Amino acid sequence: MSVANSRRVRGLSPRIQTPHPAQSPSGRFRHLLPQGEKEERTKPKVTTHPNDPSLRSFIDVDPASDFPIQNLPYGVFSTAAYPAPRVGIAIGNYVLDLWALEQDCRLDVGPLGVFSAPSLNSFMALGPKVWAKTRARISELLRHDHPELRDNEELRKQALVPMRDARLHLPFTVSGYTDFYSSKEHATNVGVMFRGKDNALQPNWLHMPIAYNGRASTVVVSGTKVKRPRGQLKPPNVEVPSFAPCKRLDFELEMGVVVGQPSPMGGMLTEQQAEEMIFGFVLLNDWSARDIQQWEYVPLGPFLAKAFATSISPWVVTREALEPFRLNGPEQSPAPLDYLRQSRPQNYDLELDVSLRAAGTNAADTISRTNFKYMYWSSVQQLTHHASSGCAMNVGDLLGSGTISGPEKNQRGSLLEISWNGTEPVELPGGAKRSFLEDGDSLVMRGWCQGNGYRVGFGEVEGTILAAE
Ligand code: CA
Repeated sequence: MSVANSRRVRGLSPRIQTPHPAQSPSGRFRHLLPQGEKEERTKPKVTTHPNDPSLRSFIDVDPASDFPIQNLPYGVFSTAAYPAPRVGIAIGNYVLDLWALEQDCRLDVGPLGVFSAPSLNSFMALGPKVWAKTRARISELLRHDHPELRDNEELRKQALVPMRDARLHLPFTVSGYTDFYSSKEHATNVGVMFRGKDNALQPNWLHMPIAYNGRASTVVVSGTKVKRPRGQLKPPNVEVPSFAPCKRLDFELEMGVVVGQPSPMGGMLTEQQAEEMIFGFVLLNDWSARDIQQWEYVPLGPFLAKAFATSISPWVVTREALEPFRLNGPEQSPAPLDYLRQSRPQNYDLELDVSLRAAGTNAADTISRTNFKYMYWSSVQQLTHHASSGCAMNVGDLLGSGTISGPEKNQRGSLLEISWNGTEPVELPGGAKRSFLEDGDSLVMRGWCQGNGYRVGFGEVEGTILAAE
């Protein structure tokens, strides 16, 4: 069977057409490959680390692109020609089809078909050594001075999909979703609004990362429309609650940690163990119904006000790709208890931008510019704390960082703070005024780490508000 034919067969449904484990779809059996060929093709000979800023790809990548060869974020995509969702990575304006490479024996992660899955969970379950080896091999295949893919027109045609032709899906099956509350600036702003300056932070806040258990069932990928939720509303000035569409719909700018390894029930995690469990990060919008929240949250915290939708970006940027951008977070005082102490920098210099396109307008305007580096509690501390009671963590768990606000007024990560609970509506350059989101509004979050001459970016997470029915 020719390569082209095998491609057509797999296009019908890669998951149903899974070949024999020892057989590539082109009919070649791996153990019968000419001696040395498999070794040569699948073992990275790379001496340069995939994060090396001097690396270049044979694919042209604009310096302002989020997806240079130093990034290589994982996602799940499909195309009109081959509609089965499968795993790819973003490079410039292309998606590199990892299932095509796996079938052609160019990429060997162990069990065949890992990249034919419609989620990253099977790949993540293989662990950090496989993650690193795979990233190094993909980097090698994309290098400008490596001929294997560069000079193979047939393979390039199969494996490189223009980004505009790719439909991006939820990149992993979300096992559990937990949302933290770890920006001191955000917690202080909200505390001042509702409890006054003297009691802004609750007594526990400086001692542990505060969180609630959210819903995995309504985590959706960027581009999914979000219907305005209904709920019980009881503004302070009325006697009895009513059931109606939310009137104070908000966003929350967050990063999401994607947990790639499990931890046992009853166990605890060291800093290093927690770090090694983190596969990567996504942008996260924790949509919030402030009026529903205000009435329901006593005494157990948010429930339905946060459960109707959580949007994430389609590309998971690996923890390894963020290594060059590590830095120390804010000083923690009082010193955390022993199990939460960190021996090395666990924050990232990651710039964030939120823009709003008001309903009926074409232009999106920036309403917040901040940075992930301000977070008081790091993702590693959140994960360590999460497991500390003996709570088991699973492959595919998603941890929201909590709203990311910075010290300045233009660095606030929610409309609740930007409009100061509706008392200071934001006026957009086009003339529209907003205290909270209106039907037809579209919200876009972007994030990137700026390197010297390149950026490791996340793309975007977008959501448009639909009217309640
Ligand atoms: Ca939140």
